[in-house]
Amino acid sequence: MRSGGSSAPPDFKPWWWEAAPPAAPRDVPLPPGADVAVIGSGYTGLSAALTLARAGRHVVVLEANAAGYGGSSRNGGQVGSGNQKIPVAELVGRFGEKRARALLEEGLAMLRHTSELIQRESIACDFARVGRFRGAISPAHYDAMARDLDSLHRMVGVAFFMVPRSEQHAEIGTDAYHGGSVLPDDAALQPARFHRGLLERAVAAGVELVPHTSVTSIERARSGTVVHTRRGRLAARNAIIATNGYAGRECPPLARRIMPIGSAILATQELAPELASRLIPKGRIVGNTARVLHYYRLSPDGRRMLFGGRMASEHATSDVRDFAPLHREMIGLFPELSCVAITHCWSGYVGYTRDVFPHLGVRDGIHFAMGYCGTGVARAVYFGHKIALKLLDRPDGRTAFDDLPFHAFPFHALAKRLVPLAVSGHRARDWLDRRG
Ligand SMILES: Cc1cc2nc3c(=O)[nH]c(=O)nc-3n(C[C@H](O)[C@H](O)[C@H](O)COP(=O)(O)OP(=O)(O)OC[C@H]3O[C@@H](n4cnc5c(N)ncnc54)[C@H](O)[C@@H]3O)c2cc1C
Repeated sequence: MRSGGSSAPPDFKPWWWEAAPPAAPRDVPLPPGADVAVIGSGYTGLSAALTLARAGRHVVVLEANAAGYGGSSRNGGQVGSGNQKIPVAELVGRFGEKRARALLEEGLAMLRHTSELIQRESIACDFARVGRFRGAISPAHYDAMARDLDSLHRMVGVAFFMVPRSEQHAEIGTDAYHGGSVLPDDAALQPARFHRGLLERAVAAGVELVPHTSVTSIERARSGTVVHTRRGRLAARNAIIATNGYAGRECPPLARRIMPIGSAILATQELAPELASRLIPKGRIVGNTARVLHYYRLSPDGRRMLFGGRMASEHATSDVRDFAPLHREMIGLFPELSCVAITHCWSGYVGYTRDVFPHLGVRDGIHFAMGYCGTGVARAVYFGHKIALKLLDRPDGRTAFDDLPFHAFPFHALAKRLVPLAVSGHRARDWLDRRG
């Protein structure tokens, strides 16, 4: 894997941070108390904090690292409803048609909510309705995707069209797929700029952000909660946990319900404009139907390929070898990128749940919203807002996701160590599917 045109290694930070770097560390005092303590400063935490502050609550957001350190400033910037995570037929089988429709409608509401928020708040984050192309890794996947989208269209009116293999070069510069689908309403944004915009709106509304302050435990007290941090404690009437794939010891019952899964992205050097437009002619966000999927797109200026998927290691890493398999996969799809240097590669954690649904609610008196299973841009913003409305006891805090049972992963610590094995199993099934 060649880096930025020299023998120097690539930058192991998100390329997004070039335009929106994390704030430099500074010593922010820990306030003694708040109405609400929010743990985690990603989209979930900030969205909840913004809603609460505008309702007149004193909100303190506690963040273990720099603001937005987690998935929210390092994701692929692909914005969708999450409605394709579980096939409609399976959803109807599990919940019946009425509940399935409610869940799907709410997926669309999440996409709408996020785009409206960006417009209403004038957040400059390169938001654009570019549409999503999803490549089928086999003819059977193409047919299944067409059936699923047809059901989605019939149930909740999702706009889509199928692109047969013979026409896919209009969408994508590879022959690796057996056709694909386009969801024209899905969108792209610059995630770190979006995060920064949300943070600025939250601070302007009165939210206090305390970075580099890791929460170690949360204790229930007569007056509400006492939040213990590495820098002291804070008394709050309520607490919201918004740690998603970074959930840890601060709330073990929730951590056992989330499986952190590593995801990584490579950014290429600037491409010749004709090459960029041959690879992704319509500038859409792209994914595929594999279990171990790739997600990719051009940068907002249309000059770089940003290619995401799995990396070799499950841990945050600055070892270029951990990104080499993903690089090979990118070259496999686009051989023209083999001589193109990689300038940035980075990784982060998504938070998976056992049922592949996101969850929100109250557990032992503590509010939470998490588990977006890799599709969290719109869902985290929406769930953050909804958990805030619930805390305010507002009826519009209700969601179709409310009473989904949130099961722990049995033997969580062991299961976490077995993630690479599970991924290998999924890769094997993808390989079999590709061979038909
Ligand atoms: C590489 C990558 C690519 C992705 N691509 C996409 C995509 O294209 N589209 C999409 O929809 N989704 C994508 N996602 C998922 C999406 O980024 C997340 O679902 C979303 O950002 C979750 O937001 P959040 O606020 O819930 O959590 P995060 O943004 O992860 O924030 C959680 C925060 O909690 C903090 N924290 C953890 N423990 C503590 C503690 N004890 N005390 C204080 N703070 C704590 C962490 O430091 C972190 O900053 C991607 C994720 C990754 C990692």
